[in-house]
Amino acid sequence: MTIRPICITGEPVLHQRATEVTVFDDELRTLVADMYETMDKAPGVGLAAPQIGVGLRVFTYDYADDDGNERRGVIINPVLERGPIIDEPADEDTEIEGCLSVPGERFPLKRAEKVEITGLDLEQNPVHIEADGWFARIFQHEFDHLDGILYVDRLAEPWHEIATDVVEDNGWGKPGLSWLPGKDNLEG
Ligand code: ZN
Repeated sequence: MTIRPICITGEPVLHQRATEVTVFDDELRTLVADMYETMDKAPGVGLAAPQIGVGLRVFTYDYADDDGNERRGVIINPVLERGPIIDEPADEDTEIEGCLSVPGERFPLKRAEKVEITGLDLEQNPVHIEADGWFARIFQHEFDHLDGILYVDRLAEPWHEIATDVVEDNGWGKPGLSWLPGKDNLEG
């Protein structure tokens, strides 16, 4: 397994729709193994394939709920159904989100409280998960990556403008930038 560099916002693969997986082969198994290792090293609670430069509809997640139950897995070709998003400003303490492709930054974002996700695992078995709270947030965040959407794209003002400035100040927002978990000292 290999820890792979994580693309930073501006890399085109992060901003375009990823394509469906059609071949379940050793290459896909290696990709997913590398995604788990890269996610764990980052560390992150989720990682989408475009974040390591692969434009396929795959993400991994690893989340421990308040009861300490670890939810860890991979979802391939996911379909996401979102519950309603309450029309209120995001809470600046409890609804703060980050992204390994916008490393070291965090901004408040309102998300749906509940989602339902379906897809396939590596053995092409169906996956069906109902999630709420943070678990639901992770699925919305990772699913967005597969449609070329970063969480900073969804921010309300003033956060959207602040995030845009931060990206510019960091010299991001152009192709070719990445960081390597375990080597570069960044967190997201
Ligand atoms: Zn992300």
